[in-house]
Amino acid sequence: MLGRNHVVTACASWLLAEPYLLNQSPKPLEALFLLLVVGLGAMLPDIDHPDSLLGRRVKFISVPLSLLQGDRRVLPWSESTHSRGITHSIWALGGCIWLLSGQSTVAIALAFGFVAHLIGDALTPAGVRLLWPLTVTFRSPVTFRTGGFIEYLFSMILVTGAVMHWLGIDVLQEVEGFFVAHI
Ligand SMILES: [Zn+2]
Repeated sequence: MLGRNHVVTACASWLLAEPYLLNQSPKPLEALFLLLVVGLGAMLPDIDHPDSLLGRRVKFISVPLSLLQGDRRVLPWSESTHSRGITHSIWALGGCIWLLSGQSTVAIALAFGFVAHLIGDALTPAGVRLLWPLTVTFRSPVTFRTGGFIEYLFSMILVTGAVMHWLGIDVLQEVEGFFVAHI
């Protein structure tokens, strides 16, 4: 999934899931701040890639991580250009879950963005190597090409759902009503 779509889908999912994750609704400015944190969390796993949205800005982190994972851009004999290694693994995910178990809403927002990114990558044919350094790849039974039409459609559906939710419309009830009426 492209970096921009990671950010968009994570933020839209956060708007839909936030009432279930937080004890109380954040005030408007806090809500905006949390949304920015979710966006940052959604960019974090690709910090292992020097050409990613975040990796471009922190090369002192992304280049050593690429070296560690055998990225072809740095090591010519390596097989992959973006191995989705340790930052896409259960070790990083474990850190997120540990953060989620805390009380800080900022930590919850950051971990949410991170997990949303891993799910987004698992929806692409390349999948994620959750057990890094083992090369076993995990992917969804249904996948779509990175940057392809389905990826943008998926992002648009989530954004539409988030906007409907923001407008006070019960998204699940509306979807259920639609299927009952048309199928
Ligand atoms: Zn990724």
